[in-house]
Amino acid sequence: MKMTYDISIFPLLYTPILIFMLALFAMYLYNKTRLKTELYISVSMFVLVAASLYVFTLQGENIKFDTFPFQIVTSILLVVTIIMQLFSEKRDWQSCIPIAIVLILTIVTLVFHPIVRGVVFPLLLFGLVGWRYLRIAKRDTTEIVRMSLLSSLGITVILGSLIGSAAFQFLSSLLIASYLVLENTHYFNRVIALFRNVSITSMTDSLTQLYNKSFFVKKAEQLFGKQPISIIFVDIDNFKQLNDQKGHDYGDEVLQKAGMLFKGTIEGNGYPCRFGGEELVGIITTNRAMELAERFRKNLEKTTGITVSVGVAHSKELDVNEGEGGINELIKLADERMYQAKLQGKNRVC
Ligand code: GH3
Ligand code: MG
Ligand code: MG
Repeated sequence: MKMTYDISIFPLLYTPILIFMLALFAMYLYNKTRLKTELYISVSMFVLVAASLYVFTLQGENIKFDTFPFQIVTSILLVVTIIMQLFSEKRDWQSCIPIAIVLILTIVTLVFHPIVRGVVFPLLLFGLVGWRYLRIAKRDTTEIVRMSLLSSLGITVILGSLIGSAAFQFLSSLLIASYLVLENTHYFNRVIALFRNVSITSMTDSLTQLYNKSFFVKKAEQLFGKQPISIIFVDIDNFKQLNDQKGHDYGDEVLQKAGMLFKGTIEGNGYPCRFGGEELVGIITTNRAMELAERFRKNLEKTTGITVSVGVAHSKELDVNEGEGGINELIKLADERMYQAKLQGKNRVC
């Protein structure tokens, strides 16, 4: 079988190359976030690349392709990049200039004669490289990669317009794609940091820095049935009186101290949470719940003079470990025991 390809099919590779770049991006995101979705996206993109390459190999020179759609997509990507830079907190004007130039040139190549592209485009690129080289620290590796990419792009365009080969068009699109990936990398880093922050805030109680109630409920449901767990239910004694006598702010401080001690006590044995008001709850995944509850009660009294009533319940005590409502039964049992502790005179674990 003859294995030569018509050079005119090279522009067809633009799209697989872009998808390939996006696939690499998704891999990079997966590496950062360990999110399974990123992995799936990445794998499906790689499959897409392989599939399209296979189709091109089969159809070869019969396909006619216009570079126009590719340039439109590139322009849109560049506009998005510029908008992201301008509306970011840092407002990085300097980074906008090179991207804006690449954008203008991409549009120019859509409209003007190849000669304009072959002379003006590289001249502007080399000017840009020189300008960046003079202004920005020479030891910055990212800058060096960026400048090398732009220089190669310039050379490729000159050679492309002299020889008139589609292979050079293909090469320059590859370089533009690499350049875009490079320009966008730190924004992706910021987006990841932002997502991390949002997810931490959404499961943390702002006063005590313990997990909040919705996290508690979700986590307890998730663990229940999979493994034996215990619930520690803590209620501070006479807290209303404390608020009335020493003020609400003092009450808040006590809650923070109690939260910190609770967190320290449970550390490594499960999840410390604030159920609401002056009630703390812990999901304990080891068999030390009773011991930890007693230790917390004693230490809090010793260090702050504040007493608590605590109820402890184990999932092994329930008849049914699975099915809907099982976890609610367990929380209810711990709450009832806390109430028993109150009835027996407070400051104790039941
Ligand atoms: P008991 O020993 O029976 O538990 O009595 P108690 O006073 O602790 O119980 P009660 O449920 O009557 O009162 C709880 C009080 O906790 C009422 C409310 O003012 C106070 N509280 C709830 N959330 C907060 C908070 O975030 N900060 C402060 N400072 N107080 C709070
Ligand atoms: Mg209460
Ligand atoms: Mg109370």
